[in-house]
Formats: sequence, structure tokens, C-alpha cells
Amino acid sequence: MLLNYDEMAKSLSAAGVPLVKERLAADAAEAVAAADEFGVPVVLKLVSPALVHKSDVGAVLLDVRGHDAAVEAAGRLAELASELSLGVAGWQILVQEMVESTTIEVFAGLKRDPVFGPIVVVGAGGRLVELLPDRAIAGCPVTTDEAANMLRSTALGKALGGYRGQRDVIDEVAGVVAAASRLPEVIPGLVEADLNPIVITEHGPLVVDARVAAE
Ligand code: ADP
Ligand code: MG
Repeated sequence: MLLNYDEMAKSLSAAGVPLVKERLAADAAEAVAAADEFGVPVVLKLVSPALVHKSDVGAVLLDVRGHDAAVEAAGRLAELASELSLGVAGWQILVQEMVESTTIEVFAGLKRDPVFGPIVVVGAGGRLVELLPDRAIAGCPVTTDEAANMLRSTALGKALGGYRGQRDVIDEVAGVVAAASRLPEVIPGLVEADLNPIVITEHGPLVVDARVAAE
């Protein structure tokens, strides 16, 4: 079963996984109020247990600036929710700070392997998935050093290691992967978790999209 938003956010924070500044809104009006309060460019996302790939259906509206844009975006998402008949499963609008990040996005996932127990998988995330399909896998938990070696073993590792004058962010990202690998200790019934993507900002990596399922 998918963890609800509060359980998910609480367990990520207990494991030490950094989440983007965000607030869950019950409807369009609450989403606009949150956007106004954030007072910076925001991202509005329609979220529902019935919706796995949000951007595929236009449920992620990036770089929403100002009150009028927030009203329009929130209205559009509420309309989309009814077009997609999300009423039964339930839906909300997640309001996030719009973060400035590099184009590199990282995927970190956890699964429960029937033989090995909890495993952590890392690789390219977001839109890079098809371009860089390689992955590294290890048993949970991993240390930051082990996570850094996992990252270095993938094509993504080259991009994170200071490609074309960008700073080397391997250790920062590895810290998040190591934190994520402790999630099974925080949630003993963990079945699966997807952090996709982890984006890299000037101030460090941040998770902007997370799903956690537990028994
Ligand atoms: P989904 O994976 O369900 O399509 P995401 O929440 O991962 O939706 O968003 C899709 C993409 O939008 C991300 O890969 C990222 O590039 C961008 N994005 C999402 N949230 C933010 C944010 N808060 N700030 C900047 N970019 C974002
Ligand atoms: Mg995503």
C-alpha cells in the first residue's frame, strides 16, 4: 500500500533524505494560498494514488509565477482531476518550491528482494532514464562511500563527477542514497520506494518526487 503523504514525508525525513520545500493542498483554493505564501516560483502537481506518471498527463506545472498564474494552474489541475476521474481514488495538489537545478537527475529506488532483502538501486532519473539506462544495485544499507562507488560505476557517475566544469556532486548525492538505504530501518514493512528524481541544486541534492509503499 502506498504511504500517505504525511507518513512518506515523515519517514524520508527520519531517514535523513532531503525533500524539496512543499505543501500538500486539498483543493485548488488551498494550492493558491500555499503558492501565495511561498512567494517564489512554484511547481503545482496533481497527485493521486491512481496517477503514477504525472508529467505524461500534464499533471506537473513548472515555474508558476505569481497569484494569477497560480489560480490558473490550480484550476487546470482540478479540471484534469475530473477529466481523469480521480474522484474515487482521491487527489490533492502538491505545491513545491521551483528549484534551479542542473540537467542531471538521479533515480534512487528501494525494493524488497525475496532472497537478499531490501536492495537499493541507483541510476539516471527523470528524462535521462532512456539515455542512460544503466543501474547499480546493492543490499541495504550502504555507506556514503559505498553509494559513491555505486554511482561511479554507472554512466551517470561521469556526469555527477564534475563534467564540463560543473562541481563534483558524487559525495552529496551518495549521502542521499545512503540515507535512502536506511529507509527499511525506519519503515520495517517497506516494499518499495522511488525517489525520482533527486535533483542537484546549488545548495545540494533534493528529492522532488517520492513514492513509498509498505505492507
Ligand atoms: P512524474 O515523475 O510523476 O512525471 P515529477 O514530480 O518527477 O513527476 O516531475 C517531473 C519532472 O519535473 C522532474 O523530473 C523534474 O525535471 C521536474 N520537477 C519536478 N518538481 C520540480 C521542482 N520542485 N522544481 C524544479 N523542477 C521540478
Ligand atoms: Mg518523477
